[in-house]
Amino acid sequence: MTHQEPAEGAATGALAAVPAAGNRRSLPMPAHLRFYLGPMDCGKSTLALQIDHNHARQGRCGLVLTQGDRSASPRITTRVGMSRAAVELDSSTDLRELVRRQWAAGQRVDYLIVDEAQFLSPEQVEQLVDLVDDSHVDVYAFGLATDFRSRLFPGSQRLFELADTVLALQVEVLCWCGRPGGFNGRVVGGALVREGEQVVIADTATSAETRYQVLCRRHYRGGELGPSRPEEPQLPLS
Ligand SMILES: [Zn+2]
Repeated sequence: MTHQEPAEGAATGALAAVPAAGNRRSLPMPAHLRFYLGPMDCGKSTLALQIDHNHARQGRCGLVLTQGDRSASPRITTRVGMSRAAVELDSSTDLRELVRRQWAAGQRVDYLIVDEAQFLSPEQVEQLVDLVDDSHVDVYAFGLATDFRSRLFPGSQRLFELADTVLALQVEVLCWCGRPGGFNGRVVGGALVREGEQVVIADTATSAETRYQVLCRRHYRGGELGPSRPEEPQLPLS
């Protein structure tokens, strides 16, 4: 059987043999799918790279996946200065195929780290579950729960439904008022918007028009963005 050795062409789907009751000790420790969620800027990418580091130190081999990087050499880059090469996904990527290609090339894949997991399609989340259950690959997915409309991303919804563990990151991001912020507000031309495309294909670093701001529920609902932010000084600093 192919429970522990994820050979190329291994059977996937629901056809794996069901062990006799009580026979679980003969199986390897099951792999797991963990979904870590939190608002923007709460340190998800930093934790993703820390987990990658911890596994690599134990001799495990993993792939780091991201979406929306847009650069020629995709990386996860954190606000505290860590960085690692990553594999760029798009909505057409079959994650099982991606891993099988690594195996075919002789690369071990013991685990996957998926940053920006809110952008996964529901089908891609199901592919991750196939990898966990059929091929014994551990998956650590990091993402936002809700979009700027305060609605679940489809990928995040599927992760909620299927993950073995859902963990809300405990690093609080504060609204300008000092309350914990759990809402990813989209600000266009200085005003909060709650309708529009779920994903804007624009670089927030270069687009002056659209930016995101974490708000508490009260100020999200009221559309109050607080006093002008220190990143946008009204006066020159020199
Ligand atoms: Zn607030």
